Amino acid sequence: MYRDMTCGEPRRTDTGKTITLAGWVHRRRDHGGLTFIDLRDFSGLMQIVFNEDSAPEAHTIAGDLRSEWVVQVKGVVQERRAGADNPDLPTGEIELLATDITVLNRSETPPFEIEDDQNIADETRLRYRFIDLRRPRMYKNLKLRHDVVQVARDYMCSHGFLEIETPILLKSTPEGARDYVVPSRVHPGSFYALPQSPQQLKQILMVSGVDRYFQFAHCFRDEDLRADRQPEHTQLDFEMSFVEQDDVLEVLEELYTKLVHETRPDLEVPSPFPRMTYAEAIERYGSDKPDLRFGMEVSRLTDIVSGSGFGVFESVAASGGAVRAIVAPGCAGYTRRQTDELVEFVRSSGAQGLIPMHISADAASLDTATLDDIRSPIKNHVSLETLKEMAAASGAAPGDLMLIIAGPERVVNVAISNLRAEMGKRLELADPGVFSFAFVVDFPLFEWDDDRNGWAAMHHVFSAPRPQDVGLLDSDPGAVLGQLYDLVLNGVELGSGSIRIVDRAVQEKVFGIIGHSPEDVEERFGQLLRAFQYGAPPHGGMGLGLDRIVMLLANEDNIREVIAFPKTQAAVDPLFDAPGPITQEQLRELSIRVVEAGG
Ligand code: ASP
Repeated sequence: MYRDMTCGEPRRTDTGKTITLAGWVHRRRDHGGLTFIDLRDFSGLMQIVFNEDSAPEAHTIAGDLRSEWVVQVKGVVQERRAGADNPDLPTGEIELLATDITVLNRSETPPFEIEDDQNIADETRLRYRFIDLRRPRMYKNLKLRHDVVQVARDYMCSHGFLEIETPILLKSTPEGARDYVVPSRVHPGSFYALPQSPQQLKQILMVSGVDRYFQFAHCFRDEDLRADRQPEHTQLDFEMSFVEQDDVLEVLEELYTKLVHETRPDLEVPSPFPRMTYAEAIERYGSDKPDLRFGMEVSRLTDIVSGSGFGVFESVAASGGAVRAIVAPGCAGYTRRQTDELVEFVRSSGAQGLIPMHISADAASLDTATLDDIRSPIKNHVSLETLKEMAAASGAAPGDLMLIIAGPERVVNVAISNLRAEMGKRLELADPGVFSFAFVVDFPLFEWDDDRNGWAAMHHVFSAPRPQDVGLLDSDPGAVLGQLYDLVLNGVELGSGSIRIVDRAVQEKVFGIIGHSPEDVEERFGQLLRAFQYGAPPHGGMGLGLDRIVMLLANEDNIREVIAFPKTQAAVDPLFDAPGPITQEQLRELSIRVVEAGG
């Protein structure tokens, strides 16, 4: 054994013991006859003292030590001299008086210090990920991720779920992103697709009588990357037979409550998780993933302003668009600069602009307010009466700032919900000690895809309509609601799931509405449909982003912080320099010719 204890382990009660520790040299300080090093491993830091008089040889070696050298030190645990305690360290009352030291390995000077909260470029951090992961915060995140997985696995196993692996080399799955493909050497010109999720496989497992399945599944999606996306991510993927929506939601609520309680007992989890329909979420928050830790609900002013005489409002209302607003409480004093910033913010969310309306705190009430109490670019275009009606409908009072966005419904909803989140952040309305989960249910089964000029599956093609809506599939697909649900936490979508279609006629109708040709269906989904001909039990399930829940539990704002080896925003791994070219020989074996990069 190289060590008796880890570096963070010794305590005052170990005083007098002779122990051996091993780790990395975190820092060295020379004080003439005394040399100090902080020795570090995953568990913490331990101060080591080398005394020229009592251990001259060890002291000489210690004088040569550099940052990140790997050493083994033997010595006696002693109390630090009076006044030299470090209350910030669990080992801060003691030190190891070294008798022997062995240098196990040397290190180049690291590109950055092993300290938390340093400002290091992402590229550098990822290129030197082995150094980056030595930082305590990163180790803590890895450990937290491990704990989350353990708790989830425990829960699933004790509730009758079987952990089953599914292949990575397979075929396109129906999640709607671009596939990553792998060429087959033995079948020239043929390709595997990496799974975007194990969707069809888990459904086939249900047909196989597995009853309950789960897996921590790697999912590969070649998408344009956003802050919380990676080309590959991990899902806690599960599927259950003979269940209805409520059965699935019950599992989710228990599981996520337990996950938080066991890994972050300091957090409060309101229960039961509220359930909200998609329509209600959009109406109240403009978003299907609202942060429920604060109010600031979105009001709808379209009817009030449709005859206001103000051109922008009137034309938006006439073209079926929306005028919506939120109220920033107590923000009537915002300066021009502050509101200009918000205008920029909503523009970056796709809106044309933002209309602020300040209601002076000097007004005794909304009723008695005069034009002088209102500051807004629309105050001379809209009657005082209408302005007051708008304010009343939004719940604004003197001292408040109304923020109004007009435009096409979808654009307005995106912009106003982003603005709500932003104002929540600026005004610190959300309690960071609360994990506010919610189920959003009754999503529409289809959404209109402008690019294809046709219907697309809101979730994926196997999600079932609500039984009472099946009749609408022929007459009004846009009105069909699905047995589709999302789990949302503090404004973040954690995952989606559904009860699946097991009725062939319904499945064919759905394919038809989306515009899949029979050949397309056979090519992509033939295997699942064949399995369904042999007795598919009613079933449903969910795919939950593991990276995201760990990110939130770790209080990080990017999933890269909770993935050991993530890729950059440009889908590159700087440590391995991946992706990279392959040799001519490999290309020949694969019968592939690279025409022109990007061509
Ligand atoms: N496969 C789905 C997804 O990745 C989840 C599910 O429907 O179970 O979103």
